[in-house]
Amino acid sequence: MRIDLHTHSSASDGTDSPAELVRKAAAAGLDVVALTDHDTTRGHAEAVAALPEGLTLVTGAELSCRLDGVGLHLLAYLFDPDEPELLRERELVRDDRVPRARTMIGKLRELGVDVTWEQVARIAGDGSVGRPHIAEALVELGVVPTVSDAFTPEWLADGARAYAPKHELDPFEAIRLVKAAGGVAVLAHPAAVKRGRVVPESAMAELAAAGLDGIETDHMDHDRATRARLRGLAADLGLLVTGSSDYHGSRKTCVLGEFTTDPEIYGEITRRATGAFPVPGAGGPSAA
Ligand code: AMP
Ligand code: ZN
Ligand code: FE
Ligand code: FE
Repeated sequence: MRIDLHTHSSASDGTDSPAELVRKAAAAGLDVVALTDHDTTRGHAEAVAALPEGLTLVTGAELSCRLDGVGLHLLAYLFDPDEPELLRERELVRDDRVPRARTMIGKLRELGVDVTWEQVARIAGDGSVGRPHIAEALVELGVVPTVSDAFTPEWLADGARAYAPKHELDPFEAIRLVKAAGGVAVLAHPAAVKRGRVVPESAMAELAAAGLDGIETDHMDHDRATRARLRGLAADLGLLVTGSSDYHGSRKTCVLGEFTTDPEIYGEITRRATGAFPVPGAGGPSAA
């Protein structure tokens, strides 16, 4: 079984539509894929409708959180998408992304970059707008060579010249909401130092005590030593460990299934979840 529990579609800042994403996941030989767009479940219906036979979809979202000034991402799986409290928080975070992007564009213009909201809105389409979309605009304008190159103190990294904060959740509150909606909470890429500051191990212990289910140890932003250290920490804290690609289509270099999750851990995640169930692919209308 090949299980990839963290991917993005064009419902947020990935480049594949949800339908394309599940087709590519099946073609990549995955048995299970989780769709975890930033702060939204909007891609789920399309992914379910297009789900190829033999592929199971885990519905989820990656929630933007901040703790003591440090940004962190919480992967939430198999929660009830209609639970009103969590739904309202997702909407608050997502809706704040638009004025925040406009603020960042204003800062870039002050820095002499001729980027416009219209350009960024075109790139984002109907996806939840984020820094990767602004980064792509900078690539189009020839300001930086790649999307990743825009995530520096010069441009869009946390605290950078053109950075602006968005509404983010307190992770303790986010864990509470996810659990109350029947979901399972896993801290995404907790030691991805190249993205900026990360939370200390003491904070992970506090999050574990607050009900966190697991941490994503195997991720492209963790080197081998970091993965081993995080596995040790997870064992100490009684946390599950997951692995995933954090696939974003062509906007990042990682490929589907680049890292995967152990089937036993996947089984445990599905046992803990009560808000939604994994969706087995029936083949979709075109597969008959
Ligand atoms: P936002 O949610 O709008 O603040 O944007 C954060 C997103 O930017 C992350 O979820 C990643 O998808 C992407 N990102 C962060 N750091 C980098 C990086 N160094 N290179 C490429 N993408 C990045
Ligand atoms: Zn992303
Ligand atoms: Fe993330
Ligand atoms: Fe992600």
